[in-house]
Amino acid sequence: MSFANTDINLAHELDTQDELASFRDEFVIDDPNLIYLDGNSLGRLPKRTVNFMRNAIEQEWGKRLIRVWNDGWINAPTELGAKIARLVGAQTDEILVTEATSINLFKLAVASLQARPNRNGVVSDVLNFPSDLYILQGIIDLLGRNHHLKLIPSADGITIAPEAVDAAIDNNTALVSLTHVAFKSAFMYDMARVTEQVHEAGALMLWDLSHSVGAVPVDLNGSNVDLAVGCTYKYLNGSPGSPAFLYVRRDLQAQLSQPMWGWFASENPFAFELDFIPASDISRYRVGTPPMLSMKALEPAIDILIEATMERLRAKSIKQTEYLIFLADQWLAPIGFTLGTPRQAEIRGSHVSLRHPESYRISRALIEAPPPAIQVIPDFRAPDNIRLGIAPLYTTFTEIHQALNRMRTIVEGKIYEQYSVERLSVT
Ligand SMILES: *Cc1c(COP(=O)(O)O)cnc(C)c1O
Repeated sequence: MSFANTDINLAHELDTQDELASFRDEFVIDDPNLIYLDGNSLGRLPKRTVNFMRNAIEQEWGKRLIRVWNDGWINAPTELGAKIARLVGAQTDEILVTEATSINLFKLAVASLQARPNRNGVVSDVLNFPSDLYILQGIIDLLGRNHHLKLIPSADGITIAPEAVDAAIDNNTALVSLTHVAFKSAFMYDMARVTEQVHEAGALMLWDLSHSVGAVPVDLNGSNVDLAVGCTYKYLNGSPGSPAFLYVRRDLQAQLSQPMWGWFASENPFAFELDFIPASDISRYRVGTPPMLSMKALEPAIDILIEATMERLRAKSIKQTEYLIFLADQWLAPIGFTLGTPRQAEIRGSHVSLRHPESYRISRALIEAPPPAIQVIPDFRAPDNIRLGIAPLYTTFTEIHQALNRMRTIVEGKIYEQYSVERLSVT
């Protein structure tokens, strides 16, 4: 994809041609001076969610009280799972909304290792989100330290070569647990190819879709994936800390055993039996009572993505990340930035990391500069990445132009030097 020039008029023109432009009106966006490029850490608030939640609190909780569970609340984890299934190519009874991503990873990774008792290899990669690696390390500790974790290396710190995946897997591998789109570099694996490699070795494949769902099309069934987990507060705009989801392929649901035998995982929670009998469907992967208000907030948010369709969102996301990289090449490469993300769109998710030795102070200047300067919210990701998340439901080409222009001004004018190198606790 090529762009004629760096003129702001081109950005305006691209916005005019954007067939998803009207979706921006679905979101609460009331500060014209703020450019939000952090939808991949916390998505924006959908307008529909405000009324929906008012109703959930005042009418459903307030008036219906305990009766509300039988009004449909009890089925929310599977009904919302069925909606998410439409975004990730799964059957409606293969996804459950429950707990946090880290906890779901724990449940499914333990289930996998118990299903492969004669193997002790666990494989992940060096680009993975640390929480995923910590969970795997903790499981190995819990299970008596007989397993070992092998991390697939990255030659450039940005991508993982297919041969490196091959080299890490053998017939002692029980589980391969990878994040589909890397949280820092946005490198995206070929899900079908890797899953096939893993199956050839007789191992189970567990994908983390946290930076994929709502950002790139995913075909879990088409890729014959065994297990997956994912986050809902990023591109799904589900609300801060909204519950995560898990996927278990239908034929595996009754075969595997997850380790947290809560009452909601049992065949009939309200029979109050003294001995645990696991449910045979996806409910086996539940644990306890769902956090209903956070759960409710997901419904209107996911509907917006279903209306937009993943195909159209991906087309816009590619165009926007290409445009961002084009502007970075023109303006930011000459002043010390390097690209921390793959150049080829087919192996890139929906965010772009730009690296600079002064990234931390540049990101503080982007966020904190007082008006009339435009404020830009990216993520800083140590050691030197400024991560810019493209949420195609609401990010505009004009915003991308303004944000990169602002980065140029901050570096050229050395504005970042006024900011402290002292790190905040959440970056
Ligand atoms: C955001 C994210 C998580 C989040 O985990 P929580 O348990 O919700 O804190 C996990 N894994 C990846 C890859 C993520 O990007």
